[in-house]
Amino acid sequence: RTIARTKLRIGMIPADGVGREVLPAARAALEALGSSIPKTEFLDLDAGFEYFTKKGVALPEETVSAMKNDLDCALFGAVSSPSHRVVGYSSPIVALRKAMDLYSNIRPVKSVSKTPGERPSIDMVIVRENTECLYIKEETMSLGPNGKEARATRLITERASRRIGQMAFETALARGSSSLLTIVHKSNVLSVTDGLFRETVRGVPALPGVDGKYDAIKVEEQLVDSMVYRMFREPQVFDVAVAPNMYGDIISDAAAALVGSLGLVPSVNAGDTFVMGEPVHGSAPDIVGRGIANPLAAIRSAALMLVHLGYDGPAKKLDEAVDSVLRRGDVLTPDLGGSCTTDQVTAAVLKEL
Ligand code: ATP
Ligand code: MG
Repeated sequence: RTIARTKLRIGMIPADGVGREVLPAARAALEALGSSIPKTEFLDLDAGFEYFTKKGVALPEETVSAMKNDLDCALFGAVSSPSHRVVGYSSPIVALRKAMDLYSNIRPVKSVSKTPGERPSIDMVIVRENTECLYIKEETMSLGPNGKEARATRLITERASRRIGQMAFETALARGSSSLLTIVHKSNVLSVTDGLFRETVRGVPALPGVDGKYDAIKVEEQLVDSMVYRMFREPQVFDVAVAPNMYGDIISDAAAALVGSLGLVPSVNAGDTFVMGEPVHGSAPDIVGRGIANPLAAIRSAALMLVHLGYDGPAKKLDEAVDSVLRRGDVLTPDLGGSCTTDQVTAAVLKEL
């Protein structure tokens, strides 16, 4: 968090699908903040599957070097993930998280209105490990007595578990000294990998330098299956949940369903030196090109990015504008039961701002 800036240089990486439709909304919302944040400079950057099909690379070197050298932060849209294997292609978002060491993915999930499908009084943050687990994508295929044998390697390290654990305790502390932190794992089956994850996260309060600041935080554990069950039964009890990469991804989509739509849930990919906002949803191939993608997750991701840069006040303005559009409920995209377009919802947010 460094606040003394005269300019805010923001990389814009719309990438694929509805990412291209929702990122302009986030940009317009940031611009509408005017002088309450430093003067914004936007830099458009390439990445994605579409770019790959044209140029043969999914994440051009210029995008990474701009992020490393020229930018304060970035916003990412979404990537299409082809369901079949495409030779030479690997997900640019995974590569970008790695290149910038964005080791945590922070996903607040909150209900604010009576939009269709929303469960009331949910207010939780999912802290997802962002660099390892099954996402190292080490898969092999061999031939055995039962035919083809496919294997995937799942990597859990002490360092990554400690870093995400620290991020989770800090997130919990920021929400009040007696917050609840739920560690999500499956160590009854994967006692070595998930065992290391839960032990390491549990050990964070005893690390040197912590000096008891997490003492009042209540820590509990949930096996991932029971976590999903409890999230559907009584989502209101959760506060901050920390999980390895894959479980974190799955419980986030489940949480999004509880607040009405994936089109509402923001995230930031955060490391120690860089932050990148990114809506939790994917490229939404079923609605792409129709101008009806919900822009609110992208706008909230811009707000969350500002929080991580130290601009809490302007971020709150963005969040309040989004919340009041949701509460009014007359200008909504179809995922929330409305019949408005991306542009109409964006205009409603800008009007609130
Ligand atoms: P990907 O592989 O890119 O994640 P996907 O098929 O999993 O693609 P998602 O983008 O994850 O698609 O979306 C899942 C569902 O949520 C789809 O029905 C999609 O239309 C819907 N959805 C996602 N984002 C939005 C949005 N911004 N507005 C409205 N609906 C959305
Ligand atoms: Mg998806």
